[in-house]
Amino acid sequence: MPDATLLRLRLPDGRSATLLLGDTTTVLSVDDTLVSSWDLSGRPYALVREDGTYRRGLNGHLLHKREASADGPRLRRRLSAEEGAVSVEAARHEAELALGASVAPKAVHRLERIVSMDAAALGEDAARFLDASGPVGILPPDQYLSLVVRLTEGCSWNACTFCRLYRDMPFRWKTPDELRAHVAALRGYFGESIALRRGLFLGDANALCLATPHLLPLLEILAAEFPDAPTASFVDAWTGQRKSVREWRACAQLGLGRVYVGLETGDPDLLAWLRKPGTPDDAVALVTALHEADVDVGVIVLLGAGGERFSRAHATNTAAVLTRMGLGPRDLLYFSELVDDPSLEYARHAAGAPDLQALGPEECARQREAVLATFHPTEPASPPRTATYDIREFVY
Ligand code: SF4
Repeated sequence: MPDATLLRLRLPDGRSATLLLGDTTTVLSVDDTLVSSWDLSGRPYALVREDGTYRRGLNGHLLHKREASADGPRLRRRLSAEEGAVSVEAARHEAELALGASVAPKAVHRLERIVSMDAAALGEDAARFLDASGPVGILPPDQYLSLVVRLTEGCSWNACTFCRLYRDMPFRWKTPDELRAHVAALRGYFGESIALRRGLFLGDANALCLATPHLLPLLEILAAEFPDAPTASFVDAWTGQRKSVREWRACAQLGLGRVYVGLETGDPDLLAWLRKPGTPDDAVALVTALHEADVDVGVIVLLGAGGERFSRAHATNTAAVLTRMGLGPRDLLYFSELVDDPSLEYARHAAGAPDLQALGPEECARQREAVLATFHPTEPASPPRTATYDIREFVY
């Protein structure tokens, strides 16, 4: 943060505060306990309050989390804008107090903007976001601060039994003119707050499935609009493996640096049972081609899938497939727990069969350990980074 300025303040109510004016964010800390972060348009995006942490998405919804303590058990809940308004408004009020205590012109400008974003203004802002972007279904956890550019909408397959992220959204892709208009709308919405966005993520579920003659002109538009922006996207193995190393290289030359692959499992029988097309071998071929094109990968494993019935084959075959992928230190390995949602087709398949119920959190943790115990990274001293991918914590 080369231009960051730190101001120490005494608020009119006597509390002490520090105000950080960064080049992408404004952060106010009151009594070292209440910490609020806003983007450069004055939208709150992360709050630390007495009752836990809040992350606010651009659509106005919030995720409230609290670790287990003497005050109560661990908590994680999604809030509507109305449900989160008290916490958001409390942070805005602290900014108002800081405005009364601060004379630095740069601080006054930032704080005035934050204070102007009351509940009504934030509501209008969320509607403007949805107009410019449309809904964003899911992102890998390391991409929450990317700028999501939706080359496609929905999922080209839309039939995996454990997923209904895009069920109500027909799959389509944007023409070059539509993409230019989409980028202009995003720039108009974000304004200077685009500085908080660290790279591009190409939405939605499977943007890279587009045939190369359709895909490259779209990537060329983005490379011209956002030169040097690191670019990432999802692709599924059965469509991704159709592209050659040469085609992936062409994408990499236009900025593509990382591709996330929903492997789910290395067990072909479980994959078929989950109704995800393709095979684990497709995923190995895809990752091998991406590596040859110098594109890093993020591979996602679905813990608990297939319950007890598939548990052993899932762990053993997933470890073997991950080993064959030749994952290196620049790659990511994500473990995502199956979310037990009765509205999923998965739940209907599993109903009445106890050995098909999703495993509990402790059993999933053991499954993760079992995979890692027999997975052999290419460079044992520098394995890929592993992390948890909890779709219940997604906020954009
Ligand atoms: S898991 Fe991926 S491929 Fe399957 S339906 Fe969901 S978004 Fe589509």
